[in-house]
Amino acid sequence: MSFKPFNFHPSIIRGITACGYNSPTPIQKEAIPPILDGQDIFGLAQTGTGKTAAFVLPILERLLKRPGKKVRALIMAPTRELAEQINVNIKQFAIKTNLKSVSIYGGVSKIPQIKAIQDAHIIVSCPGRLLDLINDRAVSLDNIEVLVLDEADHMFDKGFLPDIKRIIKQLPQKRQSLVFSATMPKEIKRLAEKILHNPVTVQINHSLPVQNISHSLFQIKKEQRTSLLKYLFKEDEMKSALVFTRTKHKAKSLARQLDKAGYSATSLQGNLTQQKRQKALNGFRDGNFKILVATDIAARGIDVLQISHVINYDLPDTVETYTHRTGRTGRAGEKGKAYTFVSPEDTKMITLIERNLGKKIQKATAPSFDSSQKSSRHGNKHRKTSVSNKKPRCLWSKSLALA
Ligand code: AMP
Repeated sequence: MSFKPFNFHPSIIRGITACGYNSPTPIQKEAIPPILDGQDIFGLAQTGTGKTAAFVLPILERLLKRPGKKVRALIMAPTRELAEQINVNIKQFAIKTNLKSVSIYGGVSKIPQIKAIQDAHIIVSCPGRLLDLINDRAVSLDNIEVLVLDEADHMFDKGFLPDIKRIIKQLPQKRQSLVFSATMPKEIKRLAEKILHNPVTVQINHSLPVQNISHSLFQIKKEQRTSLLKYLFKEDEMKSALVFTRTKHKAKSLARQLDKAGYSATSLQGNLTQQKRQKALNGFRDGNFKILVATDIAARGIDVLQISHVINYDLPDTVETYTHRTGRTGRAGEKGKAYTFVSPEDTKMITLIERNLGKKIQKATAPSFDSSQKSSRHGNKHRKTSVSNKKPRCLWSKSLALA
């Protein structure tokens, strides 16, 4: 199926073509028609499914059909990176139109944002700064026709729900509302019930990991993780890797260590200024850095198509986080690899992750790094590919290919 049946305005079709999209993803197929019809939507979909285009394209269509100057669509996102990413996507789709969007978030000067609002039809914002601007009377939301809450579950995780409720009070009652969330905690269900009217629920792979990712476990002593990482960068063909650590400090120090060792790495973590975050992200996106070491919060909203590997240097705290992390690779039909470094005490979490994946994760080993000989806790449960010390390179590739 192509995008033709949606009957988008020719200038939107040109934007879609310029982005290289030939056919809609499942969420786009299901969500675009009801959104074009003006219905409210509750979309259960994770990042990587193409949900941004699913709500942006119908919004552009609505705005083009009845041109007007004021801000008419509001999209809210939990992080600056996601807001920026959505704004970039809007600009790409709207390139052949006169429609303008602005992203609004804290950590940078208000003045250029206030100026850009004057010309904007769409605002993409994080809740805190938007409330600030509302209080400063620098923005009016009186003409909003469409509201989107993206990654609503993360908004809740970050404690944004009270701010969001305050913002929603400023919006006209008569509007279209679209809520997207990867999971449905009861607080989000309650919020959705409150703000959505007769919504159509669109559910794509609810909480299911992206399918075209191969998952591998490396059982390893904690102190050997950096050496294994370096080994993998050398031995496996990594076009670009996103490495997750638990703490900001570790993200920073690991990136420094790798960069010093010549691996072209940078970090993305909460201690960076907005400018530095953007620089790191752009550097990774443009391929100037092959490795981005990040914390979970900082990595939300990262959309870099060519991520070939996601590496869990530290195991995530929840199954959802594992799904989110690994969903950064294997996007839009590309194949991706997810490697997770584990120690014996991680068995419980691995079991939960495997239950969610619906399969056991392949165990992989590397010469000189295998600590599993001493601990047989995973030994019988996982299919294991061992690698001989004699011919590490060739056999290693084989083990990775099997993973
Ligand atoms: P999202 O879930 O919106 O973050 O999208 C995930 C990735 O898929 C982004 O890099 C999009 O540019 C890409 N994408 C979205 N829709 C399509 C499509 N119909 N065809 C090809 N790529 C797409």
